[in-house]
Amino acid sequence: MLAMNYRGPFRVRAAQKPIPEILHPSDAIVRVTRSCICGSDLHLYHGLVPDTRVGMTFGHEFIGVVEEIGSDVQNLKIGDNVIVPFNVACGKCAFCKQGLFGNCHESNPEATAVGGIFGYSHTAGGYDGGQAEFVRVPYADVGPTVIPDWMDHDDAVLLTDVVPTGYQAAEMGGIKQGDTVVVFGAGPVGILAAKCAWLFGAGRVIVIDHLEYRLDFVRKYAQCEAYNFRSMKDPVLFIKQTTDWFGADVCIDAVGGDASGSALQTITGKKLLLQAGSATALHWAINSVKKGGIVSIVGVYGPTDNLVPIGNVVNKGITIRANQASVKRLLPRLIDHIQAGRLNPKEIITHRVPLEEVADAYHIFSAKLDNCIKPILIPPS
Ligand code: NAD
Ligand code: ZN
Repeated sequence: MLAMNYRGPFRVRAAQKPIPEILHPSDAIVRVTRSCICGSDLHLYHGLVPDTRVGMTFGHEFIGVVEEIGSDVQNLKIGDNVIVPFNVACGKCAFCKQGLFGNCHESNPEATAVGGIFGYSHTAGGYDGGQAEFVRVPYADVGPTVIPDWMDHDDAVLLTDVVPTGYQAAEMGGIKQGDTVVVFGAGPVGILAAKCAWLFGAGRVIVIDHLEYRLDFVRKYAQCEAYNFRSMKDPVLFIKQTTDWFGADVCIDAVGGDASGSALQTITGKKLLLQAGSATALHWAINSVKKGGIVSIVGVYGPTDNLVPIGNVVNKGITIRANQASVKRLLPRLIDHIQAGRLNPKEIITHRVPLEEVADAYHIFSAKLDNCIKPILIPPS
């Protein structure tokens, strides 16, 4: 089969690979019909995630048709069209039972925190991903969810990650009626976090990024305010000024690799290397949220130790909430929101690329070329 193949930092290609087989009675084999490239894939692509092995196939956002099922699988049948959550989750451990599917203990017992993730290095279980024609889906009775007949498959593929992640970012923010919510990052995750903030009753939503085309998009798509941090002297000051010096009620960190340059360098005097996550945006969020406010983090942080202004967290009485999204827990209500027309995720798809051209798609998405917001990959039919 054709599959995305990692060769090393900034080097990926489409290559032939054996079709995966059922390894456990609870597995299914899914024939992929669409997959996406995510901001999280860019951390792998940039070589920032430890133990990302050459030859691995990325892709944790995919939908497809059930091709084969193991002898224990009860909830799926061959031919079902399924949304496959990015979390590989056993459904039985103490964490899954609490709905923490992103922190499953069985699917990645070696890691200290994260559960298994499709196509996300051996630190997340080493599962091959769905940027391929076929993928092995472990615990097939747990994650995969049949796509409703009425649903557009472009919406369905975005339910595997970025819609639940944006929604969970807003949910973790504990947004109350009339709250001012600031979202850092206008990538797919930040755009959907801004959109979902209204569903929780936000009174004002502000998005901060530096890419004008994404700011233009989010203004229209999420009907929010959007500002360029490069045209501000200091985003923290700006947010304070625009909130009567109180600060935002909720700040959401939905940043991928930091693009701010030297802001944190100025604070710490240390030179920062390219990194996953943005310590700068985290500073901005902590320093611009009001006293007693909530900072919700869904941006992925490569180094597990980061410089956080913990004194300000304590003195202001801030609550910090963060996690990988638990996709399966959120799917029923997100499907309802789409059916009711309150969410229209597919509008963020800007590029539709044949899987053969996966290298171009990574380059365009990584370098933010051609007004790219969300690229999807189409396997050969
Ligand atoms: P993306 O790379 O498309 O978008 C990130 C945006 O952040 C870009 O538009 C970039 O210009 C902007 N940015 C960079 N530095 C900034 C700064 N200092 N302040 C404000 N904006 C800044 O990525 P994406 O697909 O939207 O993903 C965003 C993040 O969410 C990534 O870190 C990704 O790994 C993470 N993620 C987490 C989960 C989860 O479950 N927690 C799921 C999916 C993605
Ligand atoms: Zn993703």
